[in-house]
Amino acid sequence: MEESGRSRRRISDGPSDPRRRRTLAGAALAAVVLASMTSGSTTLAPPLRASAGPVATGGEAALGPCRITATLGVQMSEGLPTPPGYAHSTGTVRALTLMVDFPDAQGTEPALSRYAEFFPQTTQWFRTASYGRLEYKPDIPVPQWLRMPQSFAAYGIERGSPYEPGYRRLVKDIVAAADSRVNFAAYDLVNILMSPNAGPSALDTVLSVTFSGNEDAPLADGVPLSNTSFVYSRQDDGSGSYRETGYRVLPHENGHVFGLPDLYTPEGGGAVGHWDIMSEDWGANNDMLGWHKWKLGWLDNSQVGCSSARAGVSEYVLSPLSAAGTGRKLIFVPLSDESGYAVEVRTRTGNDEAVCKPGVLVYRVSTDVDTGRGPITVADSAKDSGGCTRRPNVHAELSDAPFAAGETFVDRERGVRVGVVGVDGAGNYRVRVTRG
Ligand SMILES: [Zn+2]
Repeated sequence: MEESGRSRRRISDGPSDPRRRRTLAGAALAAVVLASMTSGSTTLAPPLRASAGPVATGGEAALGPCRITATLGVQMSEGLPTPPGYAHSTGTVRALTLMVDFPDAQGTEPALSRYAEFFPQTTQWFRTASYGRLEYKPDIPVPQWLRMPQSFAAYGIERGSPYEPGYRRLVKDIVAAADSRVNFAAYDLVNILMSPNAGPSALDTVLSVTFSGNEDAPLADGVPLSNTSFVYSRQDDGSGSYRETGYRVLPHENGHVFGLPDLYTPEGGGAVGHWDIMSEDWGANNDMLGWHKWKLGWLDNSQVGCSSARAGVSEYVLSPLSAAGTGRKLIFVPLSDESGYAVEVRTRTGNDEAVCKPGVLVYRVSTDVDTGRGPITVADSAKDSGGCTRRPNVHAELSDAPFAAGETFVDRERGVRVGVVGVDGAGNYRVRVTRG
């Protein structure tokens, strides 16, 4: 058990899982976004207050079997609750945002132009995704480029670089350059927006990375910079949509600051497709899975149905996940202490702008599978269909994964069926869960 909130977390090497993407032209692109790396296993045993989890409300006991927990040895897990050390994900989140350039990669536009690539869209994305529960406040106390004392090359930062030694040196230099104008203790997370000419094109390699829950990070104004996202070259696929969608790497990176794992795998986005920004953050806007919204405290417990009975039939009415409102948004069907099926309704509303087949999405959540290894797998209602979208940077095959009225998800081995009984005029779906 830890003595205090100041745990001695260690940064380890991140997985460098390349995400395969395709441009409009069809060329395969390798890209990577690195997961934050913490030795989370040191924080799992005690039932500590969640740093980014749901607030305890009524209905807690009934949801017990559905609150599957993290597993020892998993660095960054889908389990509930999120361990301490990450940024809180409800209420006001104060995001120190610094624009950084280098002698060999100087900003060619004003620093505020770089900032404007990400704001106000990131703020609005979180407001919509959280139903107004996360009020994101970006702050730019230094509205110019912060010039680093060494060349970008000198920090030795590449795809997959661990925190030591390059990022530690970089963070120390950022603190030294900004300290006279910044009170680092006033913020919940830090965004470092690099001059986009630092490092390779994102079409070749995405360097963007987040180190979260890292209380061994350098101190500034008495606090460790433990939750910091670094964003590099522009994720511009050449389709002309950069101004609308290029910001989306930042909500993805900040998702790690709130304790969320990567959902893409070494094979790419085929596990979850475009159903969560932690899976795909290029191209058309998308939302987060209901499981993540519950984990982050954006859904009340009363909005989650727990289908924990060993056998029998239960029916639920689900309202669209991306729509505002207090209706039920998520059903969970626990299979074990580490896994279960989540069920939710996805429609073209809110941040979900690219949904081409609305319906009931079913996916497996496994808390014993680490970030970047496939902790979530979406069930495809139409396997090998090729999908219903041709939008660039959207995993096509899973775009028609939701189950429509009259369709049924079946897992014979585990005795679980999720049938879509129907949908009413207001877009609410009636879902029947059968176990046994
Ligand atoms: Zn990531």
